[in-house]
Amino acid sequence: MTLFSPVEMAPRDPILGLNEAFNADNRSEKVNLGVGVYYDENGKVPLLRAVCAAEEARVAEQGPRPYLPMEGLASYDAAVQTLLFGAESSLLESGRLVTAQSIGGTGALKLGADFLYRLLNKRLVAISDPSWENHRSLFEAAGFEVVTYPYYDPQTHGVNLEGMLEGIEKLPEGSVVLLHACCHNPTGADLSLADWTRVIDVIQRRNHVPFIDIAYQGFGDNLQDDAVALRLFAESGLPLFISSSFSKSFSLYGERVGALTLVTESHDEMLSTMSQLKRVIRTNYSNPPTHGAKVVSAVLNNVELYAKWEEELAEMRDRIRIMRSSLVEKLAAAGVTKDMSFIERQRGMFSYSGLTKAQVARLADEFAIYAVGSGRICVAALNTGNIDHVANSMAAVLKDD
Ligand code: PLP
Repeated sequence: MTLFSPVEMAPRDPILGLNEAFNADNRSEKVNLGVGVYYDENGKVPLLRAVCAAEEARVAEQGPRPYLPMEGLASYDAAVQTLLFGAESSLLESGRLVTAQSIGGTGALKLGADFLYRLLNKRLVAISDPSWENHRSLFEAAGFEVVTYPYYDPQTHGVNLEGMLEGIEKLPEGSVVLLHACCHNPTGADLSLADWTRVIDVIQRRNHVPFIDIAYQGFGDNLQDDAVALRLFAESGLPLFISSSFSKSFSLYGERVGALTLVTESHDEMLSTMSQLKRVIRTNYSNPPTHGAKVVSAVLNNVELYAKWEEELAEMRDRIRIMRSSLVEKLAAAGVTKDMSFIERQRGMFSYSGLTKAQVARLADEFAIYAVGSGRICVAALNTGNIDHVANSMAAVLKDD
């Protein structure tokens, strides 16, 4: 018996397993639609020109590398607030906002979860059905009971709003409700402005705690419209938790750049909340890394670089949109009679394609196309070089059913 001999293998991460199978496949036409990142037309993770410019300036500066404060780089935290709430928002000068730089969006969720664990007696969080896989694991690991509220309607390929409202209504009063601000992962189905108003109304009435995850700001319509849910929540006067991430919007996945932002009710609350949040940070990793935050801050705080970034973000968003409509067209041309136009209506990097587990398995076996068993496909992994093969192969498995 050794110390480690009782340790059992953890369950395999399904996405990692998929990547392994993809890498081991030697068919030249293979396509990986299981990924969670944006690929450009050449099938590569892009390095944005605005990021490059900010990095070059940072290297040229040859500055020292001291620790950051626990809550991160001040110019970065302020820029995050402006991006979330808009430059005109009265919240920016209200003294009620707490923002702490975090280790990506995941780190922000974990900071928020750890903080809420200390704050609440009833540790219950409701996530959408389905949601990003890590939401459940992360909150469970932080000591929460995790339940779901209805979200996706497979009939319409959109949101089951009535089910969602009813599900949130039925939760015990004071539950934490986790919501996706835009570009819902994994379904691509988003709420409309009118839908958000109704969701806010139930949350307010039931004294729930809203926690909004915004990991794809700029991938839906544009930076402002994609943040509309946050702004409506803020206007409602509810306390608010927001986890945000620049992994996708700056294509800075490995630099781990995110933030946790809280809307409190007064300046005093902000001060005490920030002091407690710093304790959570201090006892986890002490203070965040510098590079990603310096780069993002340099871009967001410089008029020319900001404009360049916004342009590049629009290029990514538009390319995904073109791939969506092209896929719908090509599926129809390949003889799929079922209405697939929902792919065009879904937003962000993903689409719940409606493919069954068996169809996904056939795509891998017969056509070297890899997707998640749930039928989630990453539209951002399509390009003009692989879309015909994907459309024809999807058509083949769809038509046989
Ligand atoms: N939230 C959602 C909905 C996501 O899809 C992701 C990443 O895929 C994250 C959070 C985590 O982002 P990050 O990579 O910045 O930790």
